[in-house]
Amino acid sequence: MKRMVTMCAFVGSIAGGMSVSAITGDQPEFRKLAEDVYAYIGKLNDSNAMAIVTTEGVVLVDTGNNTTDTRELLKHVQSVTKQPVRYVVITQNHNDHSGGAVLFSPPAKTIVHERVAKQWAGLKPHQITAWRRRFPERTAALERLNPTDTIQSVSDRFTLRLGGKEIQLIYVADEYNPGDIAVWLPKERILHASMAGYKDRHPDIRPDYSHGTTEGLLKQLKTYLALSPATVVPAHGPVSGGWLLEGMIEYLLLARDQVQEMRKKGVPLADIEKQFQMKAFGGWDRSEHLPWIAATIHRELQGLGPQIITVAERRLSGVVSNAVQDGRFVTVTVGDGTQVRLRVTGDTVFEGIGDRTQIRSGMKVSAVYEVPDGIAPALGFDTLEFTVSR
Ligand SMILES: [Zn+2]
Repeated sequence: MKRMVTMCAFVGSIAGGMSVSAITGDQPEFRKLAEDVYAYIGKLNDSNAMAIVTTEGVVLVDTGNNTTDTRELLKHVQSVTKQPVRYVVITQNHNDHSGGAVLFSPPAKTIVHERVAKQWAGLKPHQITAWRRRFPERTAALERLNPTDTIQSVSDRFTLRLGGKEIQLIYVADEYNPGDIAVWLPKERILHASMAGYKDRHPDIRPDYSHGTTEGLLKQLKTYLALSPATVVPAHGPVSGGWLLEGMIEYLLLARDQVQEMRKKGVPLADIEKQFQMKAFGGWDRSEHLPWIAATIHRELQGLGPQIITVAERRLSGVVSNAVQDGRFVTVTVGDGTQVRLRVTGDTVFEGIGDRTQIRSGMKVSAVYEVPDGIAPALGFDTLEFTVSR
């Protein structure tokens, strides 16, 4: 019964118009959640971070969407304490959460789950170069270091006690959990819900299971819900109460039902991807994630493992015709007039500019990017190198 009531409240907030804009403000916000605990709320549903101030240093939980966010996060932290950042906890191994760790670490330790540690040990040379160059003032200090030199890995449960604060890290074991860690402050009843916590933004769940599976996320959400958090910081979207977790459970159950219904009717996957709408959550942004969510569930329901995607490297040169979301998505017009959509990530190595926020229309560029075999990536091709010649 409790769940029903909460679900009504949840749908009500959408119908009532509160969430129709479905997005956080157009500027990041640094908000006090409890004594010594702060949330950095990303702009326009960009990733959130958290800062826990103790008498023995600061613990950051994730590092902001972009290098500019990481710098701003640091400024905010410095406005409330003189303590240095001692630990950076990574809740999910994606650059919009982990990319800024290198601004603090070393000397800070970056805490990751052991599955993430394995992924960092297998980084490709261009990713390590991007890691060293992410913040120009850090490049010299990192020249002889590898990303794995800066981490401390943890397994299923780990409690960090620092300056009188208790910070619990929770990994919910699951074959396809890529190493997501929730961060729980038992005294303050505040939870950073890692990848499983989303609000007002369709989650980025992919058929290669790089963000886990809906089944695994449901398992995480139920574990987190059992803690009865008073405050939840989601990976993306506004800070909310514990009901956020129930809302996400409803979301995932509904998503699975919708795909299952269509499968039962014999609808082919390509049509399922088009017809999968999640209308009950119509106010949420990033609807471009929907086809991938459908494709992921479609695999899961058949008991299939992750989709193995092979990629081919391609090169282009042309002129930037459009750059949005701080240069994350860039359209380049090449010689024959064709437009190529690139997805510029934290793993992209830049030449001629410091980072992606400096990409502008009209720039002459060349790029090396990856074309996956057999699929048209909704967000654009992942970019390995991006060179601006102006
Ligand atoms: Zn994210």
